[in-house]
Amino acid sequence: MAGSPATSPASAKPPGYRGRFAPSPTGDLHAGSILAAFGSWLLARHAGGEWWVRIEDLDPPREVAGAAERQLATLATLGLHADAPVVRQSSRHALYDTALARLRDAGLAFACHCSRSELAASGGIHRRCVARGTRRQPAIRLRVPEGSVVEFDDSIQGPQRQDVAREVGDFVLRRADGLWAYQLAVVVDDARQGITDVVRGVDLLDSTGRQILLQRALGLPTPRYAHLPLVTGQDGRKLSKSDAAPPVGTQSALVSLREAWTALGQPPEALAAAPSPSALLASATSHFDPARIPARLSGSVPTNR
Ligand code: GLU
Repeated sequence: MAGSPATSPASAKPPGYRGRFAPSPTGDLHAGSILAAFGSWLLARHAGGEWWVRIEDLDPPREVAGAAERQLATLATLGLHADAPVVRQSSRHALYDTALARLRDAGLAFACHCSRSELAASGGIHRRCVARGTRRQPAIRLRVPEGSVVEFDDSIQGPQRQDVAREVGDFVLRRADGLWAYQLAVVVDDARQGITDVVRGVDLLDSTGRQILLQRALGLPTPRYAHLPLVTGQDGRKLSKSDAAPPVGTQSALVSLREAWTALGQPPEALAAAPSPSALLASATSHFDPARIPARLSGSVPTNR
């Protein structure tokens, strides 16, 4: 299926390493998203590769006006500059349409009229349609046959195995409200953009099995995966957008980068003297050791400075 407009990479020659940071514009970047941005940037630079930025703006009800621009401004303040023009998913509906049509034509995806309450009996997991009625616009799901077990090696979290049929079931590609599911868009875009290395927070580890199944269904390559440890607040809970205190100006950019650096298991003294984000990033690039990144964080990082 290679060579089609939906799936062929942007350039003919595959890059050795191309990473990306792909925030959803649902609020400002917080310590966790800054860790993902800096971590993915460091791994790309360490490999001598490229680092791209993609805005994942496919869920307007969850989006916050101006958030994408503020996220990009934060990256600029941190000195993290993308190696290619920033791409927005909202301008790429045709690519997702083509991929979905291909899956449906191949009999791998199907229209589903089941409601949440009808699926409650099976714990929300879809294994076969149980809808009693029809919807004006059904969801579209990927069929996940029994025995669909995915194994992959995460370079930070180690060997992974997920029985997607049992644990997830047939999953949504396009929602009943017409919005694209993250799983489809991310797989289409990572392939289309020639991403070789997906580096992101460990909260998305659970989605990776679904994404690998989709890559196989679409005949796309599977990138390498590295899931970074999750930053939690002082009380151990997952950070939310309300914990965001994006850096404004050089001093707070330095603080944010140093915190993320330490959370990535790197020696704080390597960056202690850097007077500016660009000096800090240069020093970080030469001292970074991926082997030091922990699978889990031992402590929390301060938020809302
Ligand atoms: N857009 C997702 C988020 O902000 C990240 C997707 C990804 O890195 O695969 O959580």
